[in-house]
Amino acid sequence: MFDFHIHLARLPLKKQLTQLLCDRNYIFIAIACEPWEWNELHQLKKEFSTILKPVRVAYGIHPMIATQTTEDTLAKLRAHLEEDELAMVGEAGIDKRYPGYDDGTQDHLFIEQAKLALEFKRDLQIHCVGDYQRVLKLLTEAGFLQDFAIGPGASQLQTLTRLQETCRPIFHRFGGDSNFVQKALPYGAFFSLHLDSFRKKSTAAAITTIPQERVFFETDADETFLQSIRPDNKNAVDENQTTENNDLNAEEILAELEKRLESVRAAYAECCQ
Ligand SMILES: [Zn+2]
Repeated sequence: MFDFHIHLARLPLKKQLTQLLCDRNYIFIAIACEPWEWNELHQLKKEFSTILKPVRVAYGIHPMIATQTTEDTLAKLRAHLEEDELAMVGEAGIDKRYPGYDDGTQDHLFIEQAKLALEFKRDLQIHCVGDYQRVLKLLTEAGFLQDFAIGPGASQLQTLTRLQETCRPIFHRFGGDSNFVQKALPYGAFFSLHLDSFRKKSTAAAITTIPQERVFFETDADETFLQSIRPDNKNAVDENQTTENNDLNAEEILAELEKRLESVRAAYAECCQ
C-alpha cells in the first residue's frame, strides 16, 4: 500500500493505526494542514519513526484557514520544516469555498509556502478547488521554473534525472483538465489521484495524458472517513481514542483504507485502458 496523501492525525484510533501501518511496512505520506494537526502529527512521528523507517510527513497551511494565518503561523511552519529534513510542504493552495479566495489572501499564503518549498528543496502538496491556471501563475511568481526537459516532449531519462533534482509540485486530489496537465508537466508536476478525480469527464480524459511515472494514488482520509465505514454511528469513537464505546478497531480502518486505494487503482486502470 502506498498512500500519497492521508491525514493520519485526524483519523480515529490514530496511534493504533500508525502502529499497524508501520508494522505492515506500508508507505504513506501523512499530511498536516493546520497548526493543531502539525503538533499531533509531530507527536506520532516522534513515537513511531525510526532511522530505518522514518514516518514521511508534510506540514502546510490549508487555504481554509488562510484568513486566520499570521506571520507567527508561518514561523512555526518553518520550524517544523527545519526540524524534519524529509518533510514536504503542504497541503497549500487555493479554494474558492473559503474566505480569502477573491481578495488575494489565499494567493499570498500559497506563494509564501511555495517559496518555503523552494528554499528547503521540498516537494509541495497542492490543494486546488477553483482556478488551476491561477496556481501555475502563483508557482511561477514564487520562483518555480518551467523546464522543458521535463515537459511532454522530453525523453524518459531526461525527465527522471531532472525530476530528482527539482522541487515537485504535487497536485493532490487532482481535478484539472488536459490543457492544465500539459502546462503543469514542464514544472515537474506529480498528480495524486483520488476516487473523486475520475468523476469529471474532463479530468478523467486528462489523467490518460499524464505519464505513468508521475501518477500516485491517495485516500485523503480524515476525520470524516469513519462516517464512510459506519454511516449510522458518527460518534462511535470517543475523544480518548479508546475502543470502549464501540467495536471499531484499527484493522477495520486499515482495511477500509486499502479498499479505498484499490478502487482508485481500479478506476485508473479502467480509465487508461
Ligand atoms: Zn488533504
